Amino acid sequence: MLRSLCVSCGCFADRDDGICRHCTKELPRLGPACQACALPLPAGAPFCGRCARGRLPVIRSHCLFEYRAPIDQLITRFKFRADLTVGQYLGRWLAQELRIANMPDAIVPVPLHRRRLRQRGFNQALELIKPLATARGVPIRLDLVERRIDTPDQIGLSALQRRRNMRQAFACTGQALPRHIALFDDVVTTGATVLTLARCLRAAGVERVDVWALARATGSITR
Ligand SMILES: [Zn+2]
Ligand SMILES: [Zn+2]
Repeated sequence: MLRSLCVSCGCFADRDDGICRHCTKELPRLGPACQACALPLPAGAPFCGRCARGRLPVIRSHCLFEYRAPIDQLITRFKFRADLTVGQYLGRWLAQELRIANMPDAIVPVPLHRRRLRQRGFNQALELIKPLATARGVPIRLDLVERRIDTPDQIGLSALQRRRNMRQAFACTGQALPRHIALFDDVVTTGATVLTLARCLRAAGVERVDVWALARATGSITR
């Protein structure tokens, strides 16, 4: 039985999904956004300037929230303070609200390095995406990519430094690759992680890679 206090304001939640009516209305849901990178755009424009010009390895990006209050705090509580109840609610909101037209053949949560996984005890991306995967009947594949290097905390690094760290970080290890994969991460910041992984999967022979995330950092992005 999940607790009935609102995870955002602490009042008695008059609903069964962990958040009161007032707070759920106030959640920073991502509005119209670039189809490829999910950065906010005026309604009607399919791609941002960068994605319209560039050749990204990602076909579609779907992010539910902007990475700001209270979503940033909820993710921190789940991920760094192991508040698994908050994680269950976030996963449930994803399953209820993320609108996806073309379901992939498999979902690949961004892997943690095994050392990080041991420290934390769980992969936040895997836990968050389980309810949606179950609801839509899409298999989660954990055997396709491996994190070989425990990239240091990327906060505070320039886009160039992040890219350098990322390039060596992953290896595609799977056999019998699905045709269409959705990569899932809790937060997409610069996109360096998911773009690196997408390139890795495409090089291994996956035809289509989409990116799904709970939240998208939208302020002062450089890529
Ligand atoms: Zn509330
Ligand atoms: Zn874009």
